[in-house]
Amino acid sequence: MSEKQLPILIAGAGPVGLSLALALSRAGIPAEVFEMDAELNTQIRASTFHPKTLEMFKEWGVVDEIIQHGYKVDQLQYWERAPRRLIADFSYASIADDTAYPYRLQCPQHIATRVLKPAVEATATGKVYMGHKLIDFADHGTHVTARFETASGIVEREGSYIVGADGSHSVVRKQLNIGFMGKTYEDRFLLIGSDLKTEDLLPGAAQVCYIFDPQEWVIILNLPDIVRVVFRMTDDENEEVAMKEETLRARITNFFGKVPDYKIKTTQLYRVHQRVADTFRVGRALLVGDSAHNNNPSGGMGMNSGIHDAANLTEKLVRIWNGESYLILDDYSNERRQYAVESVQLYTDQQYNNMVMSAEEERERRNKSLSGAASDPAKARAYLLRASMLEERI
Ligand SMILES: Cc1cc2nc3c(=O)[nH]c(=O)nc-3n(C[C@H](O)[C@H](O)[C@H](O)COP(=O)(O)OP(=O)(O)OC[C@H]3O[C@@H](n4cnc5c(N)ncnc54)[C@H](O)[C@@H]3O)c2cc1C
Repeated sequence: MSEKQLPILIAGAGPVGLSLALALSRAGIPAEVFEMDAELNTQIRASTFHPKTLEMFKEWGVVDEIIQHGYKVDQLQYWERAPRRLIADFSYASIADDTAYPYRLQCPQHIATRVLKPAVEATATGKVYMGHKLIDFADHGTHVTARFETASGIVEREGSYIVGADGSHSVVRKQLNIGFMGKTYEDRFLLIGSDLKTEDLLPGAAQVCYIFDPQEWVIILNLPDIVRVVFRMTDDENEEVAMKEETLRARITNFFGKVPDYKIKTTQLYRVHQRVADTFRVGRALLVGDSAHNNNPSGGMGMNSGIHDAANLTEKLVRIWNGESYLILDDYSNERRQYAVESVQLYTDQQYNNMVMSAEEERERRNKSLSGAASDPAKARAYLLRASMLEERI
């Protein structure tokens, strides 16, 4: 078979693998996704879709359906915990002339993947195979072969390229011995999802708020039927005790004061990493999304930047299908690696440092800079374009 008849093999049906398959198959390039689990993941993970990602979803024909499942947030606030006060209030109206989607869409990632998968399957050349765990692959120079473990034994598939969209423990990255350098943050993040309203927690609060405090910062995120409150949890706290319902409730009261009766709907405790693969390409194997980079979730850019990897890689593969050398895949690797390090990691680390900043002088400088940006229309526009991953439009 010629290269063009062989599919691109994609390991992993997360938001990034499915986005890549959708973009490729809509461009007429055959793409097959192999997911190790029998069902799509339901874990509580990303919820923020930035305007640039929504623009891509528009191009791939899924934006209306995803928006239908989400909550449009057009205001972003920063607060000081003590004494409690609003520092900066950004309105996405500032970027209304820059994008058709001047808001953050809050929609759980596991709902978005449930829109993406049938969209891939509705194309003529896109397929998704569940219960197929990538074990290993071989790069034959002109094509690749990969072996998958399934309920009925090992199956082998041929493809033109293999893409690791298989998350932070990527088999593709490990088989290629690609370094994955970076750091793990000392704090853990504790997410409590409840039926509380933002107003119940903090009168005057917007649907997305970052509340700064050197000891215990908080992020509030409104989703369609749940409010997520993310707390900092230090390493010395016992996990078992912290996850007890009474401790979770005490944490909310301690931070926000007395709140109306509520139900805790979900909890999640997780560690945060900032890592990047040494390269996103070796031969006919490529990395996208969390297999290539892990980011601090402050700012909500991890999944978004993975979906942008998928768009960039699709653009390169379309050019290769039209006759260009496959060596332009090095441009994919260089461009996206540079963006991960110099943009996403820099921004998310800065967001995180802002939340934990303790020196009085630094905090004052931070507050002045944020309130100055929010109250000046040109600065507010630039700030929100950056926060929306649209910095090239500044
Ligand atoms: C609590 C939390 C909140 C977050 N919030 C945000 C946010 O608001 N915005 C944002 O942009 N990011 C956020 N992130 C990060 C975001 O969730 C990840 O960046 C995103 O899931 C990466 O998508 P992915 O498709 O690359 O990988 P994953 O979502 O990890 O998907 C990988 C898939 O590959 C499958 N797989 C693994 N190994 C194999 C194998 N050998 N063979 C076949 N399949 C395999 C897995 O089962 C999985 O389905 C958050 C993360 C967490 C934990």
